[in-house]
Amino acid sequence: MTILNNFVRINNLIKPLISTDRVVILARRTASTHGNFDYDLAVIGGGSGGLACAKEAVNLGARVAVLDYVTPSPQGTKWGLGGTCVNVGCIPKKLMHQAALLGESIHEAVAYGWQVPAASEVKIDWAALTESVQNHIKSVNWVTRVDLRDKKIEYINGLGEFKDPHTIVATMKNGTKKELTAKNIVIAVGGRPHYPEIPGALEYCISSDDIFSLGHPPGKTVVVGAGYIGLECAGFLNSMGYPATVLVRSVPLRGFDQQMARMVTNEMEQRGVKFCHKCVPLSVEKLESGQLKVRWLNTEEQQQFEDVFDTVLIATGRYALTKQLNLEAAGVNCITESGKILAATEQTNVPHIYAVGDVLEARPELTPVAIHAGRLLARRVFAGAQQHMDYDNVATTVFTPLEYGCVGLSEEEATKRFGADNLEVYHAYYKPTEFFIPQRNIKNCYLKAVAMREAPQKILGLHFVGPVAGEVIQGFAAAMKCGITMEHLMNTVGIHPTVAEEFTRLNITKRSGKDPNPASCCS
Ligand code: FAD
Ligand code: NAP
Repeated sequence: MTILNNFVRINNLIKPLISTDRVVILARRTASTHGNFDYDLAVIGGGSGGLACAKEAVNLGARVAVLDYVTPSPQGTKWGLGGTCVNVGCIPKKLMHQAALLGESIHEAVAYGWQVPAASEVKIDWAALTESVQNHIKSVNWVTRVDLRDKKIEYINGLGEFKDPHTIVATMKNGTKKELTAKNIVIAVGGRPHYPEIPGALEYCISSDDIFSLGHPPGKTVVVGAGYIGLECAGFLNSMGYPATVLVRSVPLRGFDQQMARMVTNEMEQRGVKFCHKCVPLSVEKLESGQLKVRWLNTEEQQQFEDVFDTVLIATGRYALTKQLNLEAAGVNCITESGKILAATEQTNVPHIYAVGDVLEARPELTPVAIHAGRLLARRVFAGAQQHMDYDNVATTVFTPLEYGCVGLSEEEATKRFGADNLEVYHAYYKPTEFFIPQRNIKNCYLKAVAMREAPQKILGLHFVGPVAGEVIQGFAAAMKCGITMEHLMNTVGIHPTVAEEFTRLNITKRSGKDPNPASCCS
């Protein structure tokens, strides 16, 4: 470690004087004193967490290899380097969400004086949309490859598995095998969509792996699952004019604050999304017309239903890709029933093997979480740093038509931990200024702060349903890290007119029973 630290110091001093190639040769010489391994670090999985860890490690002087391989989806969809977020997750999802918001804005623009074609003529061109989205993804794939090459990170486009605790075998596209050894190994293989075990699921249904590059307009769609992915996809499809139905097994957005989740689904319902509550799919059958007949069961009433759809989108959660890793050969045995890795500090039971990102048990499956944990891990392994990932108070946003952003505890969780009597919940409905002119029916723009009752009322959770919720919550997430209280919030001067300022205006408690509806835009 000391040698590496010295290398980093020296490297920083001499960097301006010598070429990049020279630096890497120097790095190899210095790091090779660590043993007879091909690499100081091998990362299995070139997604958010794996790439962040690899880049940080190489910056710290380590010799690094990254293996990344995408097994095609049951429908045959495959993609390039960069993992879920870039190819079939956050990025294409956000772009499609934006496409949906723009469609709504076109209609609202009329109220602002814009002359646009009649509503019936405003349509989405699915092929043009997917082409733009895929072009952007391909450019990111390309930049990622170039970045790895520039950083002298060895990229191996092969499916990795353990041969022994320090050896990985990569099976390349053409079936050839490549073996490499590494002093440290990071498992960052992420996950893939889970399919329910019902007839027709694998044959006829698509998942988030397929929707962003679907070769034809999805048409009338049933979405199975009411988590993040289910609601986000149903939301953008419906807003684009593809009728969407959601099968909800228990409750939408289970684990989130349920009052906020209801605001989200109320808004979606108002916009035309259908929700079938307490329903699970039974079968999917392909009709001669090419359409799909879906049967489902209402588990509360034990009643069966069926309907015909153009697309069935499965969004029933994701499983970790650990089975194919041959973890037994490495001696890694901290695997949970769900196939995830249990590693509190990202270190497995085999000290030189680590895991980051979605593959970890009980950690938020979010890109910035994987990235931050990966970077901190590299600093601990290659620079002697001590800082560990703090998985508490990670902010998140569900990109539904009316977005829901939150950080900290839900009201339910806070009540469970501290008791209702010890809490104060401040809440308000609000009307975004920009919604006044189109005279939107605004019923679900709502926010709340869950705080301790005792002064200075430390805030435990902040929740916001409304436009640009992610942008609103991000800053407050930093404030949460600093221990923000209701006193701080109430003494913060707002930025007017924004939706974020609504947090600074909170003053009505649920306990008071007062009406949380706004009196006017500037009250
Ligand atoms: P991944 O990014 O999944 O990368 C793992 C990589 O390893 C993949 O490329 C995989 O093919 C490869 N791999 C697997 N096994 C092997 C092997 N044996 N050998 C070689 N390579 C292998 N998060 C957010 O923060 N915000 C969002 O808005 C958001 N939206 C999302 C929307 C959707 C539809 C989905 C599916 C996810 C979304 N997420 C979002 C979650 C986010 O994408 C993940 O949390 C993040 O990508 C996890 O990163 P990771 O590094 O753990 O794994
Ligand atoms: P999820 O949030 O866990 O939701 C899965 C949904 O499928 C739940 O509603 C679940 O119902 C339902 N379900 C599970 N098995 C089912 C079955 N057999 N039949 C019917 N319904 C079933 O998973 P996800 O939506 O796939 O998302 C995965 C992860 O990706 C998320 O946890 C999130 O971290 C990440 N992600 C993040 C974002 C974002 O940041 N905006 C967006 C998308 C994804 P129950 O509640 O009854 O179990």
